[in-house]
Amino acid sequence: MLFNWLKTRRERAIFSGPKRRFRPQARRHSYGASRRSKLLCLLPTTPAAQKTMLCLLVLVGLGYLFSQQQTAPLSNNQRQSLPALDFSKRSDVTAVSSSTPVLVNNSISSTAPVASSVTGNPLAERTIDAAPTPAVTTDEQVQAPEPSIFSPQVEYQIQKGDTLSGIFDRFAVGQQQMYQLLEADYALLALDTLMPGNLIKLWIDADSTLTKFEIEFDRSHQVVFTRAAEGYEVNEVIVEGDWLAKSIEVSIEGSFSGSAQKAGLSSALNQQIYNMFKDKLDFRRALRAGDTVRVLKQQQSIDGELTGNERLLAIEFEGRNWQHTAYLHDDGSYYDAEGQSLARAFLRHPFANDQRLSSRFNPRRLHPVTKRVSPHNGTDYAAPYGTAILAAGDGVVKRVENHPIAGKYVVIQHGGEYRTRYLHMSRIDVRRGQTVSRGQRIGAVGKTGRVTGTHLHYEFHIRGRAVDSLRAKIPMATSVNSDEKQQFLAKVNRYRTQMNEMLARQQGGTSELASTN
Ligand SMILES: [Zn+2]
Repeated sequence: MLFNWLKTRRERAIFSGPKRRFRPQARRHSYGASRRSKLLCLLPTTPAAQKTMLCLLVLVGLGYLFSQQQTAPLSNNQRQSLPALDFSKRSDVTAVSSSTPVLVNNSISSTAPVASSVTGNPLAERTIDAAPTPAVTTDEQVQAPEPSIFSPQVEYQIQKGDTLSGIFDRFAVGQQQMYQLLEADYALLALDTLMPGNLIKLWIDADSTLTKFEIEFDRSHQVVFTRAAEGYEVNEVIVEGDWLAKSIEVSIEGSFSGSAQKAGLSSALNQQIYNMFKDKLDFRRALRAGDTVRVLKQQQSIDGELTGNERLLAIEFEGRNWQHTAYLHDDGSYYDAEGQSLARAFLRHPFANDQRLSSRFNPRRLHPVTKRVSPHNGTDYAAPYGTAILAAGDGVVKRVENHPIAGKYVVIQHGGEYRTRYLHMSRIDVRRGQTVSRGQRIGAVGKTGRVTGTHLHYEFHIRGRAVDSLRAKIPMATSVNSDEKQQFLAKVNRYRTQMNEMLARQQGGTSELASTN
């Protein structure tokens, strides 16, 4: 299976840049043709010489026919595109069409210009056929280098229909190692969120040990598993990058979502705005043609490339005689211009009654046996078996899973910034995609997965990071704290100014993105 994959990747390397590769040969071909036409001018003029010439031509002609029988028949097109005119390159051509996954590094290291066009990162050398170096014999570029111990042995892009065990089987990662990965992943549950398009990288040593495993969700988010004394250690890499502001003005014509999409608002933000205002605003009946929505958003950019991650800063609905607004405050919540919260407050505990705390949040917790850092990213409640678990806030059920370590669990997304997770449940009463409201029963306490006793492991995440649900600044109140009110109002003013300036500039046909604080 590994072999098959290498073959595919090799094919990808071969076909990803063929235009440049074949151009030099095409040129060589036309050069040969013009040389032949020059030969015609040297035809003999005396009869004797013409006879000799005729004999020679017949011999040459026979020889030509004979030689044609020796080679496979080719169409004219094929012959033109084949780099066969230059025999010194023949061996390289054979190497290209061969399916042997042996990569010859030496041939590359001798062609310095290729290496110099790739910066430091050894992984970047894979994308070598993108290098604009026509001077280097192009066939050699196909031999993508796989140098050094720093590159993963396997890189695979998740396809639709892939399963975790299918993937590990395919790359000959044993059951035990897979289980150890899942064990380490308990802290993040990243493996459960793999999506088609995500990239995984595997480092496998000579005796088939998976020494490192990396998931690249996108440029801003990677999870790295490293082989430790027993099992794996997991690390999450979150790259903040730059957040660039952009303003969009939506003019309502027909439905909100249609108008918003037309104005360039992604469906994710579209949905977020809808969820944010749906209690205040009847999207079907209250919106009329000519009403406007002004949005100030941020787009994440890493090394000058947009990642696709976006964040809403300000939203202003403006009808004929009404206005609804939302502004992002430092606590990650949205409030209107008066400082009133848009979302309802969260429950501190996902239970109707107080339950006994059995283990607190501790990102630096040491494993009692292995002594390696094994973060406890949640709060454990030793509630009796079957106790109802309640949604901590309004939201949408993002995941419903059954995990060998985490057991039956539920993930709820609350707006764009918050997420809660409930592990080891005995039963789940909600389904994926379902909208839930604060205090709604989502299931019951149990001991599924690998646990020592019945309990609920409850996690609270802000912007993708687990925080201590008992200590973090979670919106528990319905308005901005009075001591933060001035600061919040100043922020609202900054948002408004920025939005106005950007929209004015855009109407003048200039500038799209601007950096924000
Ligand atoms: Zn726990």
